[in-house]
Amino acid sequence: MKTDCIFCKISNKEIPAKIIYEDKDFLAFLDIKPWVRGHTLVIPKKHYHWVWEVENSGRYFEVVSMVANHYKKVFVTEFVFSFIYGYDVPHAHIHLLPDSRGKIAIYPKEKIEASPGELEKVYQKVKLEVQKE
Ligand SMILES: [Zn+2]
Repeated sequence: MKTDCIFCKISNKEIPAKIIYEDKDFLAFLDIKPWVRGHTLVIPKKHYHWVWEVENSGRYFEVVSMVANHYKKVFVTEFVFSFIYGYDVPHAHIHLLPDSRGKIAIYPKEKIEASPGELEKVYQKVKLEVQKE
């Protein structure tokens, strides 16, 4: 836990988030400044700066795949854009952008508007059974 890290605070439930999936090591939640509807971040609960430092990266990728395949179904699309760049928040995270074909560039100029109501609607559509151990 890094005290000045926003994603550590989300993992620690100090900051609320729309959590799509959770297990003992990983968390998937809706980005509050989505680039597309359903924009999700998948993070390790433990603080690592880079995705490449995550110890159980195989399991990490399994969680990302599971959420991405879930989004293919709920958004009825073959296209779930994903990306890792590690620039904005220095806590490992993988972006998932369901059904984003043609809607975003690598560095989107504008984020879409997402009121709390809109986020809640997307959340109700996509959330998975939260698993805790
Ligand atoms: Zn952190």
